[in-house]
Amino acid sequence: MTGLRLEISLGAIAHNARTLVAHCDRRGIAVTGVTKVVLGSPAVARVLVQAGVAGLGDSRIENVERLRRSGLSTPVTLIRSPLLSQVDRVVAMADRSLNTEWAVLAALSAAAVRRGVEHEVLLMVELGDLREGVLPTNLVRLAERTVRLPHLRLRGIGTNLACHRGTRPDDAKMAELSRLAAAVERAVGPLAVISGGNSANLDWLATTDDVGRVNDLRLGEAILFGREPLERTPIAGLRTDAFALVAEVIEANVKATAVAGPTAQGAFGPVAAGRDRGPSHRALLAVGRQDVGPDGLQPPPGTSVLGISSDHLVLDTGMEPLAVGSEVRFGLGYGAVLAAVTSPFVRQVLVEAPVVRPRRPVPHGPLAATA
Ligand SMILES: *Cc1c(COP(=O)(O)O)cnc(C)c1O
Repeated sequence: MTGLRLEISLGAIAHNARTLVAHCDRRGIAVTGVTKVVLGSPAVARVLVQAGVAGLGDSRIENVERLRRSGLSTPVTLIRSPLLSQVDRVVAMADRSLNTEWAVLAALSAAAVRRGVEHEVLLMVELGDLREGVLPTNLVRLAERTVRLPHLRLRGIGTNLACHRGTRPDDAKMAELSRLAAAVERAVGPLAVISGGNSANLDWLATTDDVGRVNDLRLGEAILFGREPLERTPIAGLRTDAFALVAEVIEANVKATAVAGPTAQGAFGPVAAGRDRGPSHRALLAVGRQDVGPDGLQPPPGTSVLGISSDHLVLDTGMEPLAVGSEVRFGLGYGAVLAAVTSPFVRQVLVEAPVVRPRRPVPHGPLAATA
């Protein structure tokens, strides 16, 4: 297969998802698998469901609709507060949504009444990352008003840390979430779900003695990239190679590393002067910023990216000449995948389909006694 493509290894994703589901399950925590980076890809979602996630989550209604149209019956949560202009689509396609605004909750209720369905909501509480969330002092009051809305079910509460300001999920913040859950329950009765956060919570999970009331984590990055997002370190036992971008060489040459003559700005602003290392082998690749950002693009060992404009990438291949028509494979970080899946020029190829194995039967009878 030729041309610019994003290879997605379903085997790597399946391995990571199974490992993390088991890891969380040992602490009584269910995993909501987050598919937003891959735009709600039904193939990736199926892999997550087979790995045992309790539900799926995505931040955009378009992706939720894509998941639903693919025929999945797993519960789907819209993990960004619904747009007021989209509440009808939300109650039609998402089983649940994460919410922070009274106006949106009231509109969801009205939409659910119109459609004759029940819609479940979790209230998100602000615990220090300063992105979404009702202030802790207003949470109980919002819960009390929410449970009075027809056709809405208050399923639980949640919080989100790390994404905006890098706020670390720790014992103090998670204890605060548990305390708030208890306060809400005193006011409105039992909550089924306490959603403690995202992949950035895994470090907390690995080190805490007490998960408190937390019984759900919404995991995207850790499953898809095998890294924890606080320091981007690889998680032991997980694969970090689920995504690769393959681009084709359209010119091969030996060129100087320094520019002769006066310089000004490049296509994307000021250009670093760079060191004159003499001539080197250069490969020009048919990929650019319209397909992938300059960040999080990992070139093959022994090569380096000298620059990337709208539709050309300049790769220094050192002593190694590359032939026109040959292919170069890049590893990708979160931002790079986000860009690549959103480019109409990047074809997606699913590789290494996982072996579909039946879920291991629960031991019973004499087996269980000896286990
Ligand atoms: C993106 C997102 C997640 C998943 O975050 P990862 O770091 O990819 O695990 C969870 N919750 C919310 C609200 C999000 O926006």
